[in-house]
Amino acid sequence: MSNIIGEQNWKDAKIRVLLLAHWDTRPTSDMDNNPANSRKPILGANDGASGVAVLLELMRVMKGRLPKDVGVMYLLTDGEDLGPDLDEMFLGARAFMKDLPKPKPDYGILLDMIGDKDLKVPMEPNSLRYAGTLVREFYLNAARAGLKSAFPMTYGPVIEDDHMPLNEGGIPTMDLIDFDYAAWHTQADTVDKCSAESLGKIGIALESWLLKSPPFTIAKD
Ligand SMILES: [Zn+2]
Repeated sequence: MSNIIGEQNWKDAKIRVLLLAHWDTRPTSDMDNNPANSRKPILGANDGASGVAVLLELMRVMKGRLPKDVGVMYLLTDGEDLGPDLDEMFLGARAFMKDLPKPKPDYGILLDMIGDKDLKVPMEPNSLRYAGTLVREFYLNAARAGLKSAFPMTYGPVIEDDHMPLNEGGIPTMDLIDFDYAAWHTQADTVDKCSAESLGKIGIALESWLLKSPPFTIAKD
């Protein structure tokens, strides 16, 4: 397995933001209603590819535009969704924590399943527990960018995801995830369930965050 890492302005920055998404997809369709499908891999248009799509486009639009104090690392993790159980998940994020870049990120923002046509990304409780200040500041900034309906300041379900190895290793990281998605871990997780507009909302939330002046410095709680 391989993580894929890109960076902009990392070495010279004073504030280092890690943005991550998983690029692997589930090798089984264990939530599919048709048992004949259960051993087939999912396509993962939303569960995996949506976050990667936003980060690829964000890399392009941020090139040369980051404030000089801000550095961004783009981490595409492998083995997030291997499974079937938690002991064989988040493998790329765990490997990243074992071999942290120098200098290391100050905090992280994880994107997962953010392509749903009906996009609602509530606050994720594990993120609030480990990175509460970051979550609240990010949601307030998103509201100022006109994205209040996509980022309601309500509690979503507790999620185990790539943010957990990072949080447990001391890098406060929030998970932006819309877990209300009927096609999750089924053969139906295809691109027709997704929308470019939803990807755009996430992209604008991140862009406005990175360009924020003064930039958000410390997210540790
Ligand atoms: Zn998944």
